[in-house]
Amino acid sequence: MFYRDKLSFEDEEFKLKVGFLHFSSCSGCQVAFFDMFEEAVEILDTVELVYSNMLTKRRDLPRMDVAFVEGALCIEDPHHLHLVKELQKKAKLIVAVGGCASFGGVRRLSCGNQLPQPQHQSFVPITEVDLVKPKVKYAIPGCPPNPSLLYSFLLALLEINEDFLLPFELMTFSTRASGMDIFVEVVNKGFCVGCGTCSTACPTRAITYNYECSRPAFNPGLCVYCGSCLAACPQSFKPYPQPTYT
Ligand code: SF4
Ligand code: SF4
Ligand code: SF4
Repeated sequence: MFYRDKLSFEDEEFKLKVGFLHFSSCSGCQVAFFDMFEEAVEILDTVELVYSNMLTKRRDLPRMDVAFVEGALCIEDPHHLHLVKELQKKAKLIVAVGGCASFGGVRRLSCGNQLPQPQHQSFVPITEVDLVKPKVKYAIPGCPPNPSLLYSFLLALLEINEDFLLPFELMTFSTRASGMDIFVEVVNKGFCVGCGTCSTACPTRAITYNYECSRPAFNPGLCVYCGSCLAACPQSFKPYPQPTYT
């Protein structure tokens, strides 16, 4: 794996340099990220936090192995444009954290002209910003993602557990991030097994469970496009079965 070369494996002093960057968002993902460190005491000797707009004092962006990023980039904000150029130069690998950075999230619902900065109208999820796209290797859905999931993800990165990381890699290419996609991709294809996991994963109750038919029910007005339901659904990664031709 490129962020941990042979030399660093042999170096007992090696520490993975991580940063947390904030774009347009509510900061909930950053709070969830730091919440995980209660569980993460055992890995603190292998990880060094080099940047966070909340917890570190430095204003310039240092070089880092992994940049965790929350929020969507506002294309009318000069600070965001500067920060994303720095991100491209300074980070070896980028992880989009939460619905805003991964798929747009609540930013998809923005219609611009909103106080307090009415000039900020257009928001692009980090996974879709061309300048940094080649470095965005993983996207973690949620609004915010559960701190335990973030901890497991960081452990998997350190252990290079590719099986665990694969779904997050696939999420970077996903444009399916609303409750409607659960119906298009799972329920309407007949893949739903009625487990109810999607409704327990939904942070806004946009998906509830209909006990009469053992299927989810969806209220689009409450959906914030966080992608949690699709990520949690055990059937959502299934391709259509293809017929065998003789
Ligand atoms: S994904 Fe949700 S919690 Fe995270 S920054 Fe966006 S709105 Fe906040
Ligand atoms: S239905 Fe709920 S879990 Fe699914 S994308 Fe919308 S808000 Fe997120
Ligand atoms: S998580 Fe997937 S399989 Fe389970 S109820 Fe929801 S749509 Fe159906």
